[in-house]
Amino acid sequence: MFSDLIINAAILISFLSIANQFYRDRDLVMQSSPVFKLVAGVACGTLGILLMWYSFRIQNKTLLDFRNIAALLAAAEGGGLSVIVSGLVMGAFRIEYFGVNMYSKTGTVVIALVTVGILLIFKTKKSLGRKWLLSTIYMTIVSCGAYFYIFQKDISILLIVFPYFILGTVIVSYTVYKYMIYLNNMSLLFRKLKEESTKDYLTGLNNVREFNKLFRLVIEKAVSNNQKFSLLLIDIDFFKNINDTHGHQSGDKVLKEIGKILKQNCRTDDNISRNGGEEFSILLENASNSMAIEIAERIRKIIADNEFEVSSGRKINVTISIGISSYPETVTDITQIIERADEALYKAKRNGRNLVVSDEVL
Ligand code: GH3
Ligand code: MG
Ligand code: MG
Repeated sequence: MFSDLIINAAILISFLSIANQFYRDRDLVMQSSPVFKLVAGVACGTLGILLMWYSFRIQNKTLLDFRNIAALLAAAEGGGLSVIVSGLVMGAFRIEYFGVNMYSKTGTVVIALVTVGILLIFKTKKSLGRKWLLSTIYMTIVSCGAYFYIFQKDISILLIVFPYFILGTVIVSYTVYKYMIYLNNMSLLFRKLKEESTKDYLTGLNNVREFNKLFRLVIEKAVSNNQKFSLLLIDIDFFKNINDTHGHQSGDKVLKEIGKILKQNCRTDDNISRNGGEEFSILLENASNSMAIEIAERIRKIIADNEFEVSSGRKINVTISIGISSYPETVTDITQIIERADEALYKAKRNGRNLVVSDEVL
């Protein structure tokens, strides 16, 4: 009995650990997609089958298993659709594998009742812990009812089955719940760390570390596929004055808004970064030098025409300067791409700011 309990708990824990590897990156959008719910339902249904397979035998005829916990997991991780799918998978297996007899019929009714019950409990607005607890109590009552229905003539069996089943369910349900919460917290932390290590906290754009990674990838792709790309280095003009006149918070507001404008005016926000301070960059894949100049001019004009609201409620105008280099039109040496865009940017600054300057075409 004890080793069976360990085996069942181990199946559940391994399932959770492995499944977590696949959905660790999930966000709310992914979690609410029907495909995710369907996959979660099938996976939990399969887990239920595995638990039925490793059910433990008490005396000769009585089998106990924790398939209900699989349905509970489906509800907690995937919601209504997942519970229904897991119930269907388990019910189909129960009939297919054990044939149609009194036990499998009762087993299938239990699965149906558990599925519906969990569905209703998880529809309430209670906390996850409460829902889990209520479901565990409900499932235990339904299962004990089924055992009573089957063995009502043999109370001595019931006296052994009930304590084993109730105790086993409580231990396994509690362990699985705790481990599930632990993994969910870990996943949250993992996603947060991942986001923080690649994104700039203020604008949500890529940070400089991510820029370096992207830059390497874009170069590799361009060189091996013989493709063009352009780099735009953007620097806000007289930004120090904005901070000095309107305060650091206003400066932050301007940075955020510029980040937003850049995102709204690029084909993809994947390659936009805040490289530090008031400096941004855009990597334009497959973009010729003339295309890059056109895009840069558009962005420069949008920002110059925009009114930025600062903390005091006042509106101010902000301008930017942009330096461009394009591979392979203006620079063929990949180690020089950033340097040349930087030189162009400084030319824009020297020539009066609020300007786009491109590296010379070779
Ligand atoms: P230029 O036109 O030559 O680029 O002049 P500038 O004033 O924009 O350039 P400078 O390099 O002299 O000043 C940049 C300023 O940006 C100085 C720094 O205090 C400010 N800064 C850097 N990071 C942040 C930030 O995260 N928030 C705010 N509010 N200011 C920042
Ligand atoms: Mg600067
Ligand atoms: Mg500046």
